Amino acid sequence: MNDLDKIIICNRCQTPHIKKNITNDEIAICNICGNVLYKKYNNLLLKLFSFSLSAFIFFFIANLFPVIGIDIAGYNGELRIIETIFFLFNNGYVFLSFFTLMTIVIFPLMLISATFMFSLLRIFKIKSKFSKELLVLITILREFVYIDIFFVAILVSLVKIFEYGYILLGVGFVSLAILFVLMIYMYRYINISAYWELLDV
Ligand SMILES: [Zn+2]
Repeated sequence: MNDLDKIIICNRCQTPHIKKNITNDEIAICNICGNVLYKKYNNLLLKLFSFSLSAFIFFFIANLFPVIGIDIAGYNGELRIIETIFFLFNNGYVFLSFFTLMTIVIFPLMLISATFMFSLLRIFKIKSKFSKELLVLITILREFVYIDIFFVAILVSLVKIFEYGYILLGVGFVSLAILFVLMIYMYRYINISAYWELLDV
């Protein structure tokens, strides 16, 4: 560990702090603004490995199977994510369909794959410049993945549709819900600085 590794800068008030060793239940907090500086996560690498692998599987199920089945006033339909994006495109919402495709399908897939590869490289302690590049990709992509917002939007619209008709929650919905939890844990709950700590250069 060199001297620079011992310093951490608060991402809210930019005050530099000297790092201390903390245990698993402790949280390091900025003494100026109270912002969380860092936490210690148990077995983070193994968690990232198993959660990204699970997220990969549930991502495919959520995309292949219908998310919801609707029965409104004699209309029967199933809703799949990809079909919905095509529907938007065919109805002239070119930008919206492209935006949805990137933030709901392409970026999440890239992010999950990058996390999986990164954890694999680190578990086997493979020294490679590639792991740093993966980490840069993860850091950028996590800001452009909207699966959580998408899922909440579905929940909100479900409440509306419930008033009008019968709704069946499909296998895709359950997978999307699990994917939602995994994504929240990997990319919102775990601070990105914890990912960078795993990198040893
Ligand atoms: Zn601060």
